[in-house]
This record gives sequence, C-alpha cells and structure tokens, in this order.
Amino acid sequence: MAQLPQDPERLKDRFGPTLKYSPPGGFRTDAVPDKLVDTHCCFCGQQCGITLKVLDNQVVGFEPRDFPFNEGKLCPKGIKRYLQGSHPDRLLTPMKRTPEGFARISWDEALCETVAKIKEIQERHGKDAFAMLSGVSLNNEKSYLVGKFARLALQTANLDYNGRLCMVSAGAGNKKAYGIDRASNSWADIPKAKAIFVIGSNVAECAPITTRYIWSARDAGAKLIVADPRMVPGARTADLYLPLRPGSDSALLMAMLHVVIRDGLTDPAFIRDHTSGFEAVAESVKDATPEWAAELCGVPAAKIEQAAHWYAEAETAMILHARGLEHQSKGVDNVLACANLALATGKIGREGCGHSTITGQGNGQGGREHGHKCDQLPGNRDITNPEHRAYVAGVWGVDEAEIPGKGLSAQEIMEAIHRGEIKGLLSICFNPLVSLPDATFTREALDRLEHYTVIDFFLSETAQHADVVLPGSLHEEDEGTATSAEGRVIKINAAVTPPGEARRDWEILLDIAERLGRGRYFRYENAEQIFNELRLASRGGTADYSGITWAKVVENQGIFWPCPQTTEEGERTPDWRALDTAHPGTPRLYEGGRFYHPDGRARFNVVNWRAPAEVVDDAYPLWLTTGRVISQYLSGTQTRRIGPLVDQYPFPRLELHPRLAEALGIQDGQWVTTLTRRGRLTLRAQVVKTIRPDTVFIPYHWAGDLSANVLTNRALDPVSKIPEYKVSACRVQPATPEEVARGERAEADAYRQEPIQLELGLADRRKEASR
Ligand code: SF4
Repeated sequence: MAQLPQDPERLKDRFGPTLKYSPPGGFRTDAVPDKLVDTHCCFCGQQCGITLKVLDNQVVGFEPRDFPFNEGKLCPKGIKRYLQGSHPDRLLTPMKRTPEGFARISWDEALCETVAKIKEIQERHGKDAFAMLSGVSLNNEKSYLVGKFARLALQTANLDYNGRLCMVSAGAGNKKAYGIDRASNSWADIPKAKAIFVIGSNVAECAPITTRYIWSARDAGAKLIVADPRMVPGARTADLYLPLRPGSDSALLMAMLHVVIRDGLTDPAFIRDHTSGFEAVAESVKDATPEWAAELCGVPAAKIEQAAHWYAEAETAMILHARGLEHQSKGVDNVLACANLALATGKIGREGCGHSTITGQGNGQGGREHGHKCDQLPGNRDITNPEHRAYVAGVWGVDEAEIPGKGLSAQEIMEAIHRGEIKGLLSICFNPLVSLPDATFTREALDRLEHYTVIDFFLSETAQHADVVLPGSLHEEDEGTATSAEGRVIKINAAVTPPGEARRDWEILLDIAERLGRGRYFRYENAEQIFNELRLASRGGTADYSGITWAKVVENQGIFWPCPQTTEEGERTPDWRALDTAHPGTPRLYEGGRFYHPDGRARFNVVNWRAPAEVVDDAYPLWLTTGRVISQYLSGTQTRRIGPLVDQYPFPRLELHPRLAEALGIQDGQWVTTLTRRGRLTLRAQVVKTIRPDTVFIPYHWAGDLSANVLTNRALDPVSKIPEYKVSACRVQPATPEEVARGERAEADAYRQEPIQLELGLADRRKEASR
C-alpha cells in the first residue's frame, strides 16, 4: 500500500515546498560566473531562449539571450527559474519509504527493490499490471527512450504521459483534419495576419511571449477577436470580445461557419482543390444559426455574425486556441470546428494564415511525437498500424510481436489502479495527485498500489506516496532537444552536473532495463546517441526528424520539423549515419494546399453539438472553470518552491462576478466554499468584473486543501481521453467557521514565511550526499 508514511507536516518540514532560503554567504547573483550556458526556459511550451550563469557547478543567475522566438524577453517564471537549481528541497539520494518516513538507501538497494517488485507483480498479474506514467518536461531524447523502455524493458502496454492532460485534443483534431499534429505556422507568421481569432486561451498569462506577436499584428491593423468565459488580459485589448459560456465553444464555431457559408464568404477554389467532406459539414451547420448559438453560448447573435465576418473577410487570418477549448469532453470536436472554419475560408497554408494550438507544457510538442503516448510509436506513428509497428520494430531490432499494443491513457491508468487491475507504477516527472481531475479519487487509487517507484527531482505530493524514490535530473543537469509550441526543435544544454547522488533520468532508465535483463536494447553512451536513433525511428512518420542533427539545431537556432530525407539512400538506409541532412525544415505547413493525408487533401469533419458531460441544475447552478496564473506552472512542483513567484500569487482564490457575489451575499476576500459532485473546497473570494456572472474560476496549481482538482470531473473526451477540466457544475456558499479555520491553515501552510538559513551550500550538500 502506497499510503503516506508519516504525518504531512513532517513531510513538508523535510521536503518542502520551502519558499525562503538562503545559502551560506547569501545569494551571489553579482558574482562573476565561470561559465555562461545558452539554453532554454524549463517551463512552458514557448521555450524561450535564456543564458544561465554558472559558478562552481551551480546556476547562480541568468542573462537574456537573443533567441529568435523571444529576443531576450522572459516572463516572471523564466526570470526566476534559476532559483531552483540550488534549492534545499532538491532530492539528492535514493530513498525508501519506512513507517516513520523516507530513509536514505543506496542506488543498488533502490534499483534492486524496484526491479524485484516489477518482476513480482508482472509474474503474478501479467505484464500490463505494471504501468508507467511520464511527463513532457522530459526532452525529446527521454520521451523517445521512455516509449521504448516501457515497451521493451517493462514490456507493458500501459504507458501514458501528462500531455494527456494538455494538448491531446489538439493533437487528435489536427491529425483528423490535416494528417499531422503541429502548429501550422512559426509564430513569425502571426504579425502578418489581418484578423486573429483567439478562443479558449489566456495568452497573456499562459503564453506571455506570444502576446507580443499578437500585438504586432494588431499594431499593423489586424482585428483581434477573443472568445473566453473570462475577460482574460488579452481579451481586454480585443476589438471584439465574446464572453461565451463554458463548454459552448463548438456551438459558437458552428454558427460562425453557418454565417460564412450563408453569406458567401467561403473559398470555393480552395475547398475544391485541397479538401474533402465540405458538403456534409455544410449540411450539418445549416440550422446552426447565430440565434441558436446565442442561446447556448450566452453571446449575442450579432457578435457571432461580426466575428464570422471579420475572420472570413480579412485577407489573412489565424485561429489560436489552447486548453480552454481543448480541456473538454468534446475537446476534439472543438478543434475540428476550428479546422472547418479555416478550411472553408482557405485561411491556412499561406503567409499570415493558419490554425494552431498554443502548446502548454515545456516539451508538450516534442513529447507528443515520439512514443510515450499509450497509442503511439516514434514519428507520431500509430501503435495499432501493422506497417508502423513493423518499421519501428526493425529500428529497435525486435520482432514486431514484442511491441505491446495500445494501452490505457493517463486517467484510465488511474482508474485501473483504483479498480485493482494495475498493481504497480513507475512514474517520472508527473504529479497526478495535483494534476488529474477528482483528486480524492486519485489519492484513493495511489493508496491501492502494491508498489510505486518515482523518478523526480523534488518530492511532489504524488511522490510522497512512493515506496522508492530515485533522484533524477533537473532541466539544466542534462542535455538534449525539445520542440517548442511552434514546432521548432531546439537544443537544451547542460549547465551543471546532477548534485549529490542524483543521476540523469536516461541513465536511471538504462540501469533498470539492464537489471530487467533487457539491457541489450539500450546501449547508449550519451543522449546524442538516443537522438540519432530517434531520427531513424521517426523517418517516414509525419513527425519526421531524420534530417535534423544536434549541430544543425545549434547552428540555425532551431529547426522546424518535418525535416525528412531528400535522397533515396536516406529513405532506405538502416543506419542513422547515412541519413541526409539537406532538408531545411518546415516553418509553415500546408503551403500550396498540400496536407498530410495520403491524398494530400485536408478533411472537413462533421461536428454535432453536444452538451458538456455535466451541466448546471438546481443543486449545482453555476459553471466552474479552472486555469492558470502567470507566476505558477502546472502542478506547481517547481514554481511553488520559488518564493518570489509564490509572493506574486500565494494561494488560489475563487473568482466571481460582483452580481453573483451580491446575489450570494459574498464580499471580496470572504471565505467561501465551492461544492461539486466530487468534493468541496474553501478559498477566499475574489470579486472581479472580468468573468461571466454564471461562472466561477479557480486556478489549479495547488495541492491538498487548496486543490481545484478536488472539484473537477473525470469525464473524458472519447477520442483524445482528455479530462473535462474546464466545465463542471458547482454551487458556492459562505464557508462555515470550521471551513474557514481549515482554509486559513491551508493558506498558512502554502505560504510558510520562515526563512531557512542553510548550513551547507549545494556544493557541500553534494559532497555530504555522496559520502
Ligand atoms: S515560462 Fe514560458 S513564456 Fe515564460 S520565460 Fe519560460 S518559456 Fe518563456
């Protein structure tokens, strides 16, 4: 049983989050570094370029880097990222759970224990009874390796990743519509658009650097249309704001297409020459009038007409969306409805025109291409396709039958653990207790595991349930490539070595594979060798990296995939050394109307209106939606440990409109309890005019008694299997005195101010840990 070994207070004292600390002698940010390392921010999918200052094998600061995407600019998270390198909560040694807490053990002991449990569980219950969960903070090399490791070392079908909670609806929609899963353009195209339609994306807080691209377009005269239940910062600068009801996106998009067709604003030549399926889609939106959509969306019909005309009549236009549209039980439908609009108007595949998701997680794009999804093999190949399986089996040197079939998605793995069907788990850089919906259910599932090993660099809330903890590597402690939201493959450089006994993640996986008797498939001496095998494995897939080398990435400040072979030899060779590197990469997809389905045509897809999985009623009369704030990142494992970021937004608030607050008798700052069918959460109210009066909002970066995900719904999109984070039915009421006391304790706990004076600096702690 992976239940917590000791009381949570003692765990927090030992493993944090620690907010305020200073090393012996204080921080030396003005010290002259002995090394400057060009790399990228470790947080969001923008992957801004940054230069780290290194002194005595520690990251001590940063300098702006003139990388083409961000041109020296960073958001608050990028500016403060350097503070986690020498953090006192950093895991330095392997540990084993004991009744009293976690005890330090040797690597040999930790790996023996892990491997023994894998074998024991798989012998008793079958290979698939041991699952793996992975994260897209991992670079491309590790993502590829995890996919191969799970299939050939663990030999389980049940591998999935935390991108399942992020971009998979866009991925599935992109593949259905266009035959490939990538943003359609480099961001350099955004300023060339004459209309920009942002739907379900809080760009200014979640993808801050993208704001300047949108504003450049607006400065050049573009119309900015924003659709969102909250008047997010970007919406406050829009020419047209559509405050749609949570979960009503597809109705809005269907009505816009209805107007486009009705008013003769389509591009018939583009539809004829480059697409198929238009007639069925046109028929399907015949009754989707603006008046019909206005009822569902809560947006006036005239505004829907206006948005359709501005988008379709502009000479060039782009659609940008993110999790607001995608985190729904019909996330894929919503993406397809955007694609239908772009295809009907021919606004894709040329300068200033496109349709892109704004990928959220650091390597969210690269991480969804090379095989650590339950349904995928490298190169964005389909694990159920015999030809795809045979090709990858050839690269891996195994019989095709040795590659397991399609496994369960992340949430489905948790459900199978809860049912007792999956007994063991290995996770790397994934904090499902905070990031999966219905956190109470997730906690129950974790408590039912027979064995759980975690590879991570901080002891996340989920890792606290582990039997064995293996200290892995931070972003700046390993090298490799990542792929940004634009589809640009970039180079991540190692600035320092892992401290103490911590090891690079890929080395840990190789060691486990060896001990499982499968080491022959994992003979790598460095991360570049893994990348070169990835190139070969991706060749011919839609996510083709075969023409990319590390050197080429560095020389060009990034290469956009697809970057395929240009010679017959390159297309046939079984040796990565013979791959050619002549292709320059593809910043803009679909030029000349050529899409990635076998016949080169894009597909229209019929989208029928469906209500969200849960709708408001008398018992739960309000819509709850969740999202991010600028100073925090995802489950907060990293950013909740960086004091200056926590200072900016220390704990979550419940946002509600003044009219709703008045109706409920709630004042700004008052403690309120939000209830859904899954649970209850007590937070202070934040009364704002920037939200629909029928909707409340909670940011999701916190754990335990501050966790928004105790409220959210486990309903999944049937295609992408993404949970419906963005739409739940709830009610809000003033908190009881007991709830207030609990909320105050949770806040005090999340924002512990006592500064810690470390007795040893990281350099000494490294030595201490390795004695
Ligand atoms: S968090 Fe994102 S936008 Fe902010 S600096 Fe890092 S990569 Fe750039």
